[in-house]
Amino acid sequence: MNILSNELWSFNLEMAYLLAATLFFICLKLLSSPKTARLGNLLGALGMVLAVVVTFLQNKSGAMMPVSLSLVLGSVLGVYSANKVKMTAMPQMVAIFNGFGGVASVLVALAECWRFYFNQHLAPGSLFVVSSWFSIVVGAITFTGSMVAFLKLQELMSGRPILLRGQRIFTALLVLVTAVALFWLVRSPSDIEAFIWLAIIASVLGILLVLPIGGADMPVVISLLNSYSGLAAMAAGFVVKSNLLIIAGALVGASGVILTRLMCKAMNRSLMNVVFGAFGGADIVTSNDEEKPIKELMPLDAAMLLKSAGKVIVVPGYGLAVSQAQRNLREICDELKALGVHISYAIHPVAGRMPGHMNVLLAEANIPYDELFDLDQINTEFETADVAIIIGANDVVNPSARTDRNSPLFGMPILNADKARSVIVLKRGRGRGFAGIENPLFCGSNAGVVYGDAKQSLIKVSNALKEV
Ligand code: NAP
Repeated sequence: MNILSNELWSFNLEMAYLLAATLFFICLKLLSSPKTARLGNLLGALGMVLAVVVTFLQNKSGAMMPVSLSLVLGSVLGVYSANKVKMTAMPQMVAIFNGFGGVASVLVALAECWRFYFNQHLAPGSLFVVSSWFSIVVGAITFTGSMVAFLKLQELMSGRPILLRGQRIFTALLVLVTAVALFWLVRSPSDIEAFIWLAIIASVLGILLVLPIGGADMPVVISLLNSYSGLAAMAAGFVVKSNLLIIAGALVGASGVILTRLMCKAMNRSLMNVVFGAFGGADIVTSNDEEKPIKELMPLDAAMLLKSAGKVIVVPGYGLAVSQAQRNLREICDELKALGVHISYAIHPVAGRMPGHMNVLLAEANIPYDELFDLDQINTEFETADVAIIIGANDVVNPSARTDRNSPLFGMPILNADKARSVIVLKRGRGRGFAGIENPLFCGSNAGVVYGDAKQSLIKVSNALKEV
């Protein structure tokens, strides 16, 4: 009877794990559309709660006190950061989360290695050694790499690529030592000191790999590190024989790789160029660098152009996120719609500083999803638009990406905002975008700039609309 109830108990636990894994799959599927993303997020969280509760019930080691404390602390920090961290600081927060994920995998693998060390009669198999090696190496690289990414994004250290003399050779040497360590550990699997050294070397490697990457490329690196944290967790799943951890880790690993690929593609750069290209290291000097005159527009001029237009395309960019002007944008668009103006929003895949940045921002202001169009859907529409209004965007509308072979943006697909009959740009001054280069669109004969913070400018244009 007891055996039967034990078997039923284990069966139920496995079923609960299976349900949690299924919820993770559904969550990922739903996250792919803004309409279903909230539900997806909820289901993913539900799956995670289920996984934690079941693991809790299954645990018979009696070490529940520290685990419970960690859960409470983690939950408090999670709620605090969800409320306090600004949208523009999301990449930094994700960097920290990735780092913690990485270090957790390292600690799990080291703890298991420690267990074998004190139980000499237990012989760790090759799968255990290889998984531990992988979990420690990738987890430690993720941890220190993510911390450097955080420091760069938070501007606690220079965002420029840092490449010291001989750094690449030293890094290659550490990679070699790390690879050789695997063969050593397969032969001496209970050598706990070797595992600890491995963690230290991989931690140094994480720093050296991320230092030469410019702060501007950090979002891509964070997405890559996110994938690493998943792979490290997956390996930790093999170490502790947890199917759920293997599945969840593999999902994070795969989605991180897909996202990284999409971001590189949208910037028309290879991953190798992002990781080893030291983008943003040199001061880019192009023939466009001498300052060309830019026509200034007053809010009243902008209001008149908008009011007389039949078709307006809005191009949001990083500056919109900085000024948090999404609600003001919605208000002005509502006013224009009431006047019979057709409004649509052009969303570039890498506008802002993280994937989906503009979608999230506009969703915050309840801008209808069906007014948002991807680059491929809307690019031909600019030619028939009366006005393109660019709000805090720069690189994603830089026409030199189409024409100037010397431009670092050359080849990147851009929104053809310059092809609209009139172009209104809202920006604070002559500040450059993420790529650090001039944008000839701003000097075009059909373009004019309303200078000032995007939020303030939108308020002024909105007031002017009521006057004209
Ligand atoms: P951007 O090229 O960085 O340009 C932002 C512009 O906003 C600047 O020219 C700045 O000019 C203006 N601005 C800043 N604060 C403002 C404020 N408060 N009010 C008004 N304007 C303000 O932005 P983007 O066009 O969105 O392009 C994104 C760039 O990030 C691309 O180069 C992309 O490759 C890169 N990137 C994106 C991702 C991603 O996942 N989204 C990832 C990696 C890299 P002023 O200083 O003159 O105001």
